[in-house]
Formats: sequence, C-alpha cells, structure tokens
Amino acid sequence: MGVKDRTPLIAGNWKMNLDHLQAVAFVQKLHWALKDAKHDFESVDVTVFPPFTDLRSVQTLLDADKIPFGLGAQDLSVHDSGAYTGEISGAFLKRLDVASVIIGHSERREYHAEGDDVVSAKVQAALRHGLVPVICVGETSEDLEKYGASAVPVGQLEKALEGVAADAEIVVAYEPVWAIGSGQAATPQQAQEVCQKLRDVIAQRLGEDAAAKTRVLYGGSVKASNIAGFLREPDVDGALVGGASLKVDEFASIIRFQKHVGV
Ligand code: PEP
Repeated sequence: MGVKDRTPLIAGNWKMNLDHLQAVAFVQKLHWALKDAKHDFESVDVTVFPPFTDLRSVQTLLDADKIPFGLGAQDLSVHDSGAYTGEISGAFLKRLDVASVIIGHSERREYHAEGDDVVSAKVQAALRHGLVPVICVGETSEDLEKYGASAVPVGQLEKALEGVAADAEIVVAYEPVWAIGSGQAATPQQAQEVCQKLRDVIAQRLGEDAAAKTRVLYGGSVKASNIAGFLREPDVDGALVGGASLKVDEFASIIRFQKHVGV
C-alpha cells in the first residue's frame, strides 16, 4: 500500500454544542452545501461526533436521507453495563449505528482526570463492541518545552495500543494541546514529524500492515485556509476539527480540501 492510498478522514468533534434539533438542521445544511458544490462523497470520509443526546436524531436522518457521513460518539464507558450512573456503554452506541468513538481527547484528560490507564480501558471497550477508537494524543506547551513535540504523544499512543490486536481498526489523532481552540495551529511540517513517529509506533506495536492502513489525523485549529497544507504531508490522513466543524460553510470547505489544493 503506497503513501496516501488511505482515504482521507475529516472528523467533526462538536463537543458540547448543538442540541438534537440544531444537529439535524446542521447535518441537512452540510449535506446540501456539499451536494450543491457537486462534492465527490467517495473521495473523503466524513464523520460527525455529536453530543450523546443528538445521536439518535442524527442517526435517523443519516439513514432516512442516505447521507454518507459516519456517526461517532465523543466518549464511552470502560464498562459494558451496570450501576455506573451517567455512563454510556459501547453496546448502546453500537445499537445506534455509531461507528467510532473519540478516546483520550485532551479535554477528557484535563477536566475528567482521564490518564493513560483509562484511555487504554476505553480503547478496549470500544473494540469489544466493534467501534473504531479515535485515539487522541498530544503534548501541552509545557511538555513541548521540556520534552519536544513527540515524546508525550508517542508515550500516550504506546500505552493506548497495549493489548490491541494487529488487525483492529483504529484511528489516531495527533492533537497538540496548545493548538486546540487557540487559533495557533501546528505547521504542516510539525504535524508530519509527529504523525510519522506515531505511525512508527503503530508499526512497532501492530505491524507494518496496520501502520500502512491506519489513518493518522492532525487536530488543532484546523480551518479551510490551512487544511490543505496538512493533507499534503505523507503521514497526515485527515483532520479532527473542533470549532470549525460547527460552521456549515467552513466545514464543507474543509471537507472539500482536494478542490483547493489538488492533493
Ligand atoms: C479538538 O478539540 O479536537 C480540536 C481540534 O479543536 P479546534 O479545531 O477547535 O482546535
């Protein structure tokens, strides 16, 4: 498999934004915008990650209108069922046709004290239920100063991949914490350097085939005006987009990155 045989993936992490009515309207508008632009839906995978309470409505819409977007969740429980108030099982997500789940996002690591052990348990829970874990790793600005860009994300990924089978489908997202929501994206070269090291980790842990197949995304202040630079890099296979995934025209333009760059 050659470089860039991997279908690019543009993933929209809505975080705690858009209720279920707003979510339905948003997905409809995004689909129309892409159709109006004669977008080639086969050329790029698109997944939206709405809040839990939107999932059923969005899933019904995608199904009814045959909208070719993937549906993802922003989190899941390490447990499958039981007395865990407020938790959501991977089994429930699977029943809603959710295909993937974000794990290890820096906001979960920071505000919910999720360390590498919890991330690893969540990766296992996702795989147990046939969900693709989107494993987020990234360094803070302090880490960057102390250890450089790659040491922390590489260590986080090594831990997250413990016990993962070579043929498991996973997605990895390199998200430098200093770039998230700051408007200060990494440069394409910085992203490439770390994404390449993360692909090396996948090769060491899961083998060369897995490394060639697995999509490694960049995330952190991605916009329509900078997406092209990232996707030109050989080891960057797409983007995890926060703020800009909440604006129909901006997100549609990110999804259509091939048009503005000729990748
Ligand atoms: C994110 O939170 O995953 C993210 C990349 O956010 P933003 O695009 O807003 O920086």
